[in-house]
Amino acid sequence: MKKIYCLLLSLSLFTTTACGQNQPQHSQKTKKTTMENTIQKPENPYYSNTDTSKLVLSDAEWKKVLPPDLYEVARHADTERAFTGSMWKSETKGTYYCAACGNKLFRSQQKFVSSCGWPSFFEQDNPKSIWFRPDNSYGMQRVEALCSRCDSHLGHLFDDGPEPTGKRYCMNAVSLDFVPDSAEKAAQLKTVVLGGGCFWCVEAVYQNLNGVEKVVSGYAGGTVENPSYEEVCTGRTGAAEVVEITYNPNVTSLDEIYQVFFTVHDPTTLNRQGADVGTQYRSVIFYKNEDEKKEAQALIDALNFRNVYPSKIVTTLEPLKKFWAAEEYHQNYYANNANKPYCQMVVRPKVEKFEKVFKDRLKNKKTQ
Ligand SMILES: [Zn+2]
Repeated sequence: MKKIYCLLLSLSLFTTTACGQNQPQHSQKTKKTTMENTIQKPENPYYSNTDTSKLVLSDAEWKKVLPPDLYEVARHADTERAFTGSMWKSETKGTYYCAACGNKLFRSQQKFVSSCGWPSFFEQDNPKSIWFRPDNSYGMQRVEALCSRCDSHLGHLFDDGPEPTGKRYCMNAVSLDFVPDSAEKAAQLKTVVLGGGCFWCVEAVYQNLNGVEKVVSGYAGGTVENPSYEEVCTGRTGAAEVVEITYNPNVTSLDEIYQVFFTVHDPTTLNRQGADVGTQYRSVIFYKNEDEKKEAQALIDALNFRNVYPSKIVTTLEPLKKFWAAEEYHQNYYANNANKPYCQMVVRPKVEKFEKVFKDRLKNKKTQ
């Protein structure tokens, strides 16, 4: 159906209605999303990489949630043997967290390789992350370093560190969790699956949205396992042509992705986009949880209320069960086939509209 070129009529209809003056206002602000834990510790419900509020637990409770070796160091100021593990000599870029409570303690730039055999740092990540008290045990006068969130023992602070501070935070490796930057970034990325008619169009649009890391064309919402394009085209599988968008929530947001969605396709034509007709071309947002569903519903309600489109939005909200990537030749379709008539007549106008409305949010900004 999509290869038929008698599309101009429906396309012009679309451009005068949904593509007309009334279009969703997109906000320049990306919404501040709460960063989730980058480390999962189901056995320790108090552990958080984002919550900095004070944590006060009984000794019995700590014993229940910490592994024995960490419990002895963190709660009884035990010291692990020098040269335990490989953290003391690691120079990988990343972040160090308190292993007992998840509090952020150091960045790798603050670390140096010390011959003492314990992970050593010359500076803490922020002045509030670690506190100190005198430690006169074992006939020595030392300064004990403790986590400011959970008061766990971390190690000691000495005055024989390198410049610029001259300090040496001598830490127990067992007291630290390390997350490399690459893993941190991957853990923060989120995905959303949307169907707005022909996936070639939707894919081409999102590929140029700032904050989008990856767009994959595929199928979702059907009854057939891993359907082929030919099967989906029959309209009998229940599957829709969709894209799976992987995005960085610190750069864009689910809200912005929905705004783009409602700008570049017509959400008021049931099971149809232009000349592409069938349930496989339905306007659909797949959600993974109630929050995503609510956010999508709220936007739809707002657009309906403001009569942004001449008729009511028919976009369906469906739970995402499984996303199936489409055949390889569908991926990057517009980029690889820009001169084909369908791309010229159907995909390009949508891409151009997106570039106009979201001109400040493009990866490749147009110079005008
Ligand atoms: Zn802690």
